[in-house]
Amino acid sequence: MATAIRPIATYSGPTQLLIDGQWREAVSGKRFDTLNPATGEVITSVAEADKADVDLAVKAARKAFEDGPWSKMSATDRGKVISKLADLIMEHRDDLAELETMDNGKPISDARNIDIPLVADCIEYYAGWANKVHGETIPVPGPFLNYTLREPLGVVGLIVAWNFPMLLAAWKLGAALATGNTVVLKPAEQTPLTALRLGELCLEAGIPAGVVNVLPGFGPTAGAALVTHPDVDKIAFTGEYITGQTIMREAAGTLKRVSLELGGKSPNIVFADADLDAAVAGSLMGIFWNQGEVCCAGSRLFLQESVYDQFMDKLVGQAGKMKVGDPMDPSTQIGALISEDHLNKVLSYIKTGKAEGATLRTGGDQPTKRGYFVNPTIFDGVNDSMKIAREEIFGPVLSVIRFKDMDEVVPRANNTFYGLAAAVWTRDVGRAHAMARKLKAGTVWVNTYNVISSLSPFGGYKMSGFGRELGVHALESYTQVKSVWVSLPN
Ligand code: NAD
Repeated sequence: MATAIRPIATYSGPTQLLIDGQWREAVSGKRFDTLNPATGEVITSVAEADKADVDLAVKAARKAFEDGPWSKMSATDRGKVISKLADLIMEHRDDLAELETMDNGKPISDARNIDIPLVADCIEYYAGWANKVHGETIPVPGPFLNYTLREPLGVVGLIVAWNFPMLLAAWKLGAALATGNTVVLKPAEQTPLTALRLGELCLEAGIPAGVVNVLPGFGPTAGAALVTHPDVDKIAFTGEYITGQTIMREAAGTLKRVSLELGGKSPNIVFADADLDAAVAGSLMGIFWNQGEVCCAGSRLFLQESVYDQFMDKLVGQAGKMKVGDPMDPSTQIGALISEDHLNKVLSYIKTGKAEGATLRTGGDQPTKRGYFVNPTIFDGVNDSMKIAREEIFGPVLSVIRFKDMDEVVPRANNTFYGLAAAVWTRDVGRAHAMARKLKAGTVWVNTYNVISSLSPFGGYKMSGFGRELGVHALESYTQVKSVWVSLPN
């Protein structure tokens, strides 16, 4: 059911590029509009970075890394300013949540209760790591002292997607700053606003000029300039696997480090012995949270045949009752998709699903023609070879597939080039752990879905990417190790 969509709030935050602690227009003078997906209306325009701005930002980040106060700051003090940033984010939680919802279309209750608190938690978590990242001494043979220094990489380019704009930036920013790097953040062109506010809060927290630079702009221009820049040491990327392939190719010229967080087509497997009510609720949240614009969305639901019909009835019944509409309404569960292009892509997958012979059990349509909304959509009778079972739709569209037993479902679940996440619902502890081993995915959930924490690694197997975000594991990918040999007198 659609609810009335309120007029957009006015935006009074930064709209320029943040370079070396200064707000400035792009060298070209160009700007681009950012829209509210719930209405299609322009919120504001922002400066559009291109190669010349990337050059300036990288220069500033390099200077801050080599000579600035950041490079001389003790690890403990660095942790303190990062922690201050986390405090500021929580202080501005309501404004940031509104901004995220306005720019992205996600429900305000999610932005306020999930996105922004997770952003602050991630930054706080990495603040704690700042003075705990260190080398070791190694008992080498001979008259030598050998020890390692764990050092930052230098200038890191952060390129992120639009589905969790501030959270994806925070995952990278926290680990990069805690380990002493400086960064150039390029938000997705659809959602630049919280990144700019994040830049503003970094300055307010006392992070020195040039350490965090924020450049809204487009992928093939600003993004590509960062990827090919000889003075950028690493690209940390979140986005589509096809863009990941381009980035890896383009980064080869300078052999910079790359970490890639890409898409998924994650299997969510429900065995007949599961707590079925919990599995219904978890499966709905697994696919419809954030309008299905979730990289680890459980978009392939495998249901064991003995409970198939009973489970489907509950699932379809509850999906039909989900509240779709005004993202600013605190009771909304499903907001707007990011853009008209993306809406059309999702609708075309729904058309393909029908043409392929799957049965549309609920949804498939739009609750309103204003804004980019799609009702929660469930396809029944899907087989493994259908396009809707193979390709990432990145919208509120669930493909439900029947299976017989564990031996049969494992290879089918793994039969995708993606490997971001998977879930298993069962009361059989042995089976749960066996499945966790057999599933080829960077995250496996048992009797739950979409749980993440700053403390635990997140990332892909296969073409869902490599490198890990979050937890201690991310620290590795923002640092390098130096081995120091000292000759000792005999
Ligand atoms: P996208 O690849 O189109 O864009 C992502 C970012 O890359 C944007 O900032 C874009 O401007 C930039 N970009 C595009 N072309 C570029 C180029 N040639 N060089 C450098 N940068 C370039 O992806 P999207 O549509 O914004 O995001 C959706 C995708 O992101 C989905 O596939 C989703 O699964 C994935 N995703 C993955 C994770 C994860 O953690 N694994 C999290 C969120 C989203």
